[in-house]
Amino acid sequence: MTLSLDLKNELQSIAKGRISFDEPMRDHTTIKIGGPADIWFEPLDLEDLKIVTACADRNDIPKHIFGNGSNTLVRDKGIRGMAITLSKFDWINKNEENIVCVGAGVHLQRLLGWSVENSLSGLEELAGIPGTVGGAVIMNAGTKDGSIGDVVKNLKWASKGRVYSAEKGDLEFSYRKLKLPRGAIVFEISLGLKPSDKQEIESKIEKIRHRRKEVQPLLWPSLGSVFKNPASGSKAWGLIDDCNLRGVRVGGARISNEHANWIVNEGNATAKDVEVLIKMVKERVKEKSDVILEPEIVIIGE
Ligand SMILES: Cc1cc2nc3c(=O)[nH]c(=O)nc-3n(C[C@H](O)[C@H](O)[C@H](O)COP(=O)(O)OP(=O)(O)OC[C@H]3O[C@@H](n4cnc5c(N)ncnc54)[C@H](O)[C@@H]3O)c2cc1C
Repeated sequence: MTLSLDLKNELQSIAKGRISFDEPMRDHTTIKIGGPADIWFEPLDLEDLKIVTACADRNDIPKHIFGNGSNTLVRDKGIRGMAITLSKFDWINKNEENIVCVGAGVHLQRLLGWSVENSLSGLEELAGIPGTVGGAVIMNAGTKDGSIGDVVKNLKWASKGRVYSAEKGDLEFSYRKLKLPRGAIVFEISLGLKPSDKQEIESKIEKIRHRRKEVQPLLWPSLGSVFKNPASGSKAWGLIDDCNLRGVRVGGARISNEHANWIVNEGNATAKDVEVLIKMVKERVKEKSDVILEPEIVIIGE
């Protein structure tokens, strides 16, 4: 989208946090793919977020929220509109009842380290997942043994200049999903953690990290699992394996040899390469097993 010089100047004069234009999104995604976002905005605080997003709304600029980009494929021509990251929302505070209040931009692995230091249990299943707490809540990230939604007590989000709050009982978490009103920007999350033995927490985390290293291609840039496991109970990786697709390449993207449900970037992959592989996997699995695989990753952009 073409942004007038006046609009660019207005955005830069009202924003307290960093605003940039034509920001390469490959620098903000774990798979290292993605064309430029017209506008990139890192609000310093809630007021900054409200003021700048109000200006975007007045000018019909679409908005997209970014966490760590570890579940997001940005297409090669990039994002028309404003990409917003809450990296400055990075607080972790605890009250006497061990309710931990976290800014949406805190990285999961930093929070996990903090929970070990404070001998608080409940987040161990998130060991090794490379997202922010905001992104993890939206994706209800986790493993078959537990997801972040299990410990969420309260969420706060901003939308159209107003702030909303919801308690656990009002939140609909499901497999890799949280239902929230369209356009909600989650900025703070409260988690209920339990006091526990520090060494026990550490050893559980170590085991989970070790398990990941054994089966996951962690040396290559990726987005983790590409497809959700179908509701029937079968595993997406098993269905892909039945079609003998490990190692298949399109351009610089490859279906991982170590984990059939991962697509890795071998260095110069484009989003197009990844999308061609996704389409191929869907078609082959449908032909072979009559199952329609649904992507777990979020695909955005032009
Ligand atoms: C190596 C690797 C391993 C992985 N392993 C796992 C795993 O075991 N389990 C698992 O569940 N996932 C896994 N993932 C996927 C990913 O890490 C998780 O989904 C993670 O929670 C995404 O967080 P993020 O901050 O990177 O989100 P992003 O990719 O940045 O965003 C994901 C979605 O959330 C939205 N969003 C992000 N922040 C906000 C916010 N503050 N407010 C509103 N919307 C927001 C975005 O708009 C987007 O729709 C893995 C990924 C990789 C690369």
